[in-house]
Amino acid sequence: MAKEFVEKITSMDDDFAQWYTDIVTKAKLADYSSVRGSMIIHPYGYKIWENIRDELDRKIKQTGHENVYMPLLIPESLLQKEKDHIAGFAPEVAWVTHGGEEELQERLCIRPTSEVLFGEYYKNVIHSYRDLPKLYNQWSNVVRWEKTTRPFLRTLEFLWQEGHTCHETEEEAVEETEKMLNVYASLCEDLLAIPVIKGKKTEKEKFAGATFTYTVESLMHDGKALQTATSHFLGDGFAKAFGIEFLNRDGNLQTVQQTSWGFTTRIIGAMIMVHSDNRGLVLPPKAAPTQVMIVPIASHKEGVLDHAYEIKNSLKDSVRVEIDASDKKPGWKFNEYEMQGVPLRLEVGPRDIEKEQVMFVRRDTGEKRQVSVHDLKSEVEKLLADIHDELYKKASLYLKEKTLIAFTLADMENFLREDNYLIQAMWCGNKDCENEIKEKTGATSRCIPFEQESIAETCVCCGKQAEDMVYWAKAY
Ligand code: AMP
Ligand code: ZN
Repeated sequence: MAKEFVEKITSMDDDFAQWYTDIVTKAKLADYSSVRGSMIIHPYGYKIWENIRDELDRKIKQTGHENVYMPLLIPESLLQKEKDHIAGFAPEVAWVTHGGEEELQERLCIRPTSEVLFGEYYKNVIHSYRDLPKLYNQWSNVVRWEKTTRPFLRTLEFLWQEGHTCHETEEEAVEETEKMLNVYASLCEDLLAIPVIKGKKTEKEKFAGATFTYTVESLMHDGKALQTATSHFLGDGFAKAFGIEFLNRDGNLQTVQQTSWGFTTRIIGAMIMVHSDNRGLVLPPKAAPTQVMIVPIASHKEGVLDHAYEIKNSLKDSVRVEIDASDKKPGWKFNEYEMQGVPLRLEVGPRDIEKEQVMFVRRDTGEKRQVSVHDLKSEVEKLLADIHDELYKKASLYLKEKTLIAFTLADMENFLREDNYLIQAMWCGNKDCENEIKEKTGATSRCIPFEQESIAETCVCCGKQAEDMVYWAKAY
């Protein structure tokens, strides 16, 4: 007999890593390829990325940016120009050494990020304050030779956008850094129902070559944190290294102030690890390729399919709706679309036609209810909005429950010995303490949140005067 059931996935309580991998492959998001750490994104996974990408692209343009495209390959000499940058990225860079059979005179690196390409370009196109600001963004792939990889969360090659901007003043560039962090935060919260913590990275964790890095961090279902997106204030470090100068309003030569910011396919991993459950993927409605799936019941009976198509037509202008009219059993379809995280399922059978109603089932809560076909359009819109709100509320509550306050290093060690938590603790600002905390607990500093609470006077590690409250966690 043909296999007419949907395979079960590993429970997240038994094996979180396997649960994650099962969802990635069985919800048909992505697959492994023959190169370690690279993935094949299936149409379903790519549609989710397109929905996210389109919304982010809209926001990037709405804030005054334009898209450009830079080359894939960077000459070694160009990458060497900014010393901190190359020091930070050298271990992760892939090199092209040959063109055909011929060895190249100069190695070319596959872009891990494009600061230096933009640096070279900006040097040539910026001459006067009238040329500023330059607000450019690129959609591309990049390659970073990561040691440990996991689909979406950390891959050798990933898709992203990278914004690169130049400004007259430090003030303006800092404002831009903050503005784009807020764009990321609102994308996470308003589109994907993922609550985030906004803050600044410590010196140890900041981007190689930046003056400072802002980050949005989120908490996964296993209590590990994820750096979800970053926005960097680059100051004039790259500008000096590349000679990006302009004649200012007083007629003097001045270097530009820069920012860069990036958001990647990692977000799909975050979405899985924040919202999904033991039945499979749970998609926030605004990112879902199919928001409503109609499943006809007893579709051979007269009128059922026609009715199902009528319902689809009545909804198609307001939501992304599909109908599965295949000859597979309804039970198979229920399981399949649960696995794929379709937010709402509508069941249409012969009896529903008589009563002028349909049955809907929510993916997030499993709730079932009959709705009159006359109220369907407004009900569906309301339900999708409600699912988004519920997912966000649930994730926020989880974040709150999983956050603990530590006053001593022993507290932190105890909390993190057998489980994972997000920890709030005071810090003196010294890298040695950061290193010691990492060594003893496995947790890294996630960020110095913009919203500060003074928990104690002294550093959780050394007991000296504390500077800031910091979030700590084991992280992906
Ligand atoms: P960065 O340019 O290093 O600040 O990276 C920008 C963002 O890319 C980070 O905040 C991460 O969210 C994400 N990211 C970094 N490395 C990877 C990777 N190997 N795979 C997917 N996303 C990544
Ligand atoms: Zn300390």
